Amino acid sequence: MSKVVKFGGSSLADAKQFQKVADIIKADEERHFVVVSAPGKRNDKDTKVTDMLYQTYALAEEGKEFGKELAAIEARYNEIIKGLKLKLSLKEEFETIAENFKAKAGSDYAASRGEYLNGIVMSNYLGFEFIDPAEVVLFDDDGSFDAEITNRRVAKRLKGVANAVISGFYGAYENGTIKTFSRGGSDITGSIVARAIHADVYENWTDVSGFLVADPRIIDRPQPIETITYTELRELAYMGASVLHEDAIFPVRKEGIPINIRNTNRPQDSGTWIVESTAKKSKYTITGIAGKKGFCCVNISKDMMNSEVGYVRRILQAFEDQNISIEHVPSGIDTMTVFVAQDEFIDKEQAVVSEIHRLAKPDLLEIESDLALIAVVGRGMKRQRGTAARIFSALAHVSVNCRMIDQGSSELNIIIGVENRDFEKAIKAIYDIFVVTQL
Ligand code: ASP
Repeated sequence: MSKVVKFGGSSLADAKQFQKVADIIKADEERHFVVVSAPGKRNDKDTKVTDMLYQTYALAEEGKEFGKELAAIEARYNEIIKGLKLKLSLKEEFETIAENFKAKAGSDYAASRGEYLNGIVMSNYLGFEFIDPAEVVLFDDDGSFDAEITNRRVAKRLKGVANAVISGFYGAYENGTIKTFSRGGSDITGSIVARAIHADVYENWTDVSGFLVADPRIIDRPQPIETITYTELRELAYMGASVLHEDAIFPVRKEGIPINIRNTNRPQDSGTWIVESTAKKSKYTITGIAGKKGFCCVNISKDMMNSEVGYVRRILQAFEDQNISIEHVPSGIDTMTVFVAQDEFIDKEQAVVSEIHRLAKPDLLEIESDLALIAVVGRGMKRQRGTAARIFSALAHVSVNCRMIDQGSSELNIIIGVENRDFEKAIKAIYDIFVVTQL
């Protein structure tokens, strides 16, 4: 058995957290490969090292003095090194970083140093080999991540290596220039390493004990999700869940490797398992509820729309031309509705309207604003009669008006559009009927 363990920024924020991480790694000898983020916040008012690096580099790029800011970053690492009683100095590393900042090595290079240095500290602490992902994680010239070559390189590099620490979040172009993933991207690195070594499990250690059935800012202490499939998670992530970087599931999914989300501060909790498929039923028919406020919709009607070839494409073209991404497109026979994020749409709305008129000559076009979308997701829904009825009677009961309903053909999710102001009320009603009544 072999496990890849990834620790996020809050798990590595100070020496005390490093000690917890080492205890976790030592508690299970199958935890061979460790992927680390940069040190995160030690408390609510603190700043993540990654953010400090971006800010410091911004000064360098403007040609301003940045010595004090870089010294503050060095102090954070030194505090960890001292707390762990390591015989390690990062002095030379920081000299190189200062030189490269002056030479304007780029903000990706700057941000990546958080993980790079943390990898050095962690490998020194654990006595594991250090691997710089710039050697193995490859980005193509167009900036896209090259999954296949990376997979081969990581597999080759780790062959015969018993234990290693690998920095998360970045890689490099073929010419060696550093490139990062998007924020939170160490989750992706963990998944890449797990795929390459055919790990039995990818453990992703963070500061929560996995996914919850609903957002704890809306529901008081929601129930945890024990097992969720990759597809269910995609449906929920898409609507705003944020424990794991959404791209992190793709590498392990290719190999059918499960991800286990764990809590560094509560290692006794079993966390959430993210799997390809499972015979385990979710406890409450639904697996999770997620949603997002702040949508607009554009309603379009045209007689005989359903028989006009290319009509939908022409409507969508108007949005594409304005570079607006589309969230959802429910349709009727002679009507269709396009949901878009309000803040993205609002400045371009008239341009879209005139283009729709030019391209598709609708009979009627109407814009509505301040809507929210709620996704109720669950692999168990298709086996259960009356799920939709339960959702809608719960909503009717609390006087929430459903503005839109869409059940995906996979029967994995039901998406409901409500007014922004009804958003929390609707989520509470759905949670109550599926979860609270079953407790
Ligand atoms: N340190 C990076 C960030 O703050 C990447 C990560 O933590 O995964 O986004």
